[in-house]
Amino acid sequence: MSQGTLFIVSAPSGAGKTSLVRELIESLDGIQVSVSHTTRAKREGEVDGVNYHFTDAATFEGMIARGEFFEYAKVFDNYYGTSRKAAQTVLDAGQDVILEIDWQGARQVREQMPEAVSIFILPPSRSELERRLASRGTDEHAIIARRMRDAISEMSHYDEYDYLVVNDDFTTALQELQSLVISRRLACPLMSERHASLLATLLSQAPGVE
Ligand code: GDP
Ligand code: ADP
Ligand code: 5GP
Repeated sequence: MSQGTLFIVSAPSGAGKTSLVRELIESLDGIQVSVSHTTRAKREGEVDGVNYHFTDAATFEGMIARGEFFEYAKVFDNYYGTSRKAAQTVLDAGQDVILEIDWQGARQVREQMPEAVSIFILPPSRSELERRLASRGTDEHAIIARRMRDAISEMSHYDEYDYLVVNDDFTTALQELQSLVISRRLACPLMSERHASLLATLLSQAPGVE
């Protein structure tokens, strides 16, 4: 079975990537989000195994030592990582997979899988980013201040990505993400594999035709 496409989605915290990715996978078939491991504390409403696999640092470091991560990075003093299993299970099932990861992880993935498609989501302004972080209501003031500081260095890596989406109007940004996934699925190598028998029929020579 052919493998699906791996999409990398990065953004500064609060830009809306989790909300956009959630809607994206609800609106399209054949695409799933990879569930990362993290050592950060669980937020109210988050579910272990759904939003993240919440682990302690010793467990995470054990997984690093055993080479179990496809990529991992330290973000805001916590470890975050994608296990090989999390991404590969989805790809092997022929589904597309989305990794919601930071720029350091994105680099590691591109090195191992240059064909991955990477998308960076930008907020419409710094003030709106801060407003969203605060209005989400999940983080303390000090955590928000830290995330705002780190947002600038995260955003400075925008030009390492294949595509940029500005999440100003949510519906527009969602449509742009959908277009990227759909256009990727229409690429000639993928389509010719998927429609091999159609192409064979269309191209078969009728008797007497050159
Ligand atoms: P949020 O982005 O504000 O929802 O905050 P989180 O604490 O959930 O995530 C913080 C950052 O960690 C995100 O901006 C992601 O870019 C990054 N991140 C999440 N999962 C992974 C992962 O598996 N690997 C890497 N490298 N980064 C991750
Ligand atoms: P991230 O995963 O990038 O940290 P979230 O998806 O948690 O961001 O979004 C941060 C907050 O901003 C959430 O409260 C979300 O509902 C809100 N949000 C996301 N996109 C938009 C948008 N286009 N306009 C207004 N608010 C948004
Ligand atoms: P809340 O956490 O209160 O649901 O949302 C926080 C802020 O994000 C609100 O200003 C809300 O309008 C905005 N928001 C949340 N989800 C969406 C969405 O799907 N689309 C848009 N446009 N805004 C959203």
